Amino acid sequence: PMGTCPMAKMSLRDNFTGLLNLWARPDVLTCTSWGAPILWDGTFDPDVAQQEAIQQNLTIGLTVFAVGRYLEKYLARFLETAEQHFMVGQRVVYYVFTERPAAVPRLLLGPNRHLRVERVLRERRWQDVSMERMRTLHAALGGRLGREARFVFCMDVDQHFSSAFGPEALAESVAQLHAWHYHWPQRLLPYERDARSAAALAPGEGDFYYHAALFGGSVEALRELTAHCTQGQQRDRTRGLEARWHDESHLNKYFWLYKPAKVLSPEFCWSPEIGPRAEIRHPRVLWAPKEYALVRD
Ligand code: UDP
Ligand code: MN
Repeated sequence: PMGTCPMAKMSLRDNFTGLLNLWARPDVLTCTSWGAPILWDGTFDPDVAQQEAIQQNLTIGLTVFAVGRYLEKYLARFLETAEQHFMVGQRVVYYVFTERPAAVPRLLLGPNRHLRVERVLRERRWQDVSMERMRTLHAALGGRLGREARFVFCMDVDQHFSSAFGPEALAESVAQLHAWHYHWPQRLLPYERDARSAAALAPGEGDFYYHAALFGGSVEALRELTAHCTQGQQRDRTRGLEARWHDESHLNKYFWLYKPAKVLSPEFCWSPEIGPRAEIRHPRVLWAPKEYALVRD
């Protein structure tokens, strides 16, 4: 039985959960109020998802930015562990965005896996590096990346894969529950609250707090998402505003207005500093320790 989560039952063309049983995890919420599955370990069958994806002959993109000192500090491990764990058995194309293409580590890639490096300008402030990703991604999705890939994941570089991250995570649009905030009451979530900001959520608004370190979806859906966030950031800038958590605030506004088709449990982007939690059984991506003094100016 698949439970009663409507979007989990959607045509498999759009949803590759290989979903077995939403009731397998009575300890956690496995379906949103709008009917999207929340992917917890044990609710899906990765082998079924793999077969569904293979039948569709997909190409899956993975974008990552490595600007300034983030490149030396994180990029090699991010890519090496992606080779071991990200969409193994599918066709994958990495897009690395950096101001120093020559410094990108040369990696021996598996069959059907490609790496493309695109040059970006280095913004002076780390906040601007982070926010400019939305504009750059929008352009890339409208260009070669968008022609090559059917689905794309967009990730921070200051993390690494620790176990299988496969097509069960694919959907038209995918949002990541923030590891530090998934069990917080709504009124305490760190949304932008300044009503003048394009990212503002009013009291009572907001479903979950999503983490900008990982989001994904179809090329078309991500074109919309990145356009919306870029416009919001631009509008704020012209008004002399900057949202509390930068692009993440705008992402949260977007997913409040346009609900994600799939939500990933914090296991898909976990912070080891939180320590053991009964419901976190199988972390797939782990944050690196925050060493801002080393990587930020
Ligand atoms: N980033 C970068 N260089 C910078 C600032 C940010 O490459 O100077 C990229 C990098 O991919 C990083 C992401 O933007 O992972 C978001 O920044 P950060 O991870 O520092 O934000 P946090 O996760 O701490 O909110
Ligand atoms: Mn990060």
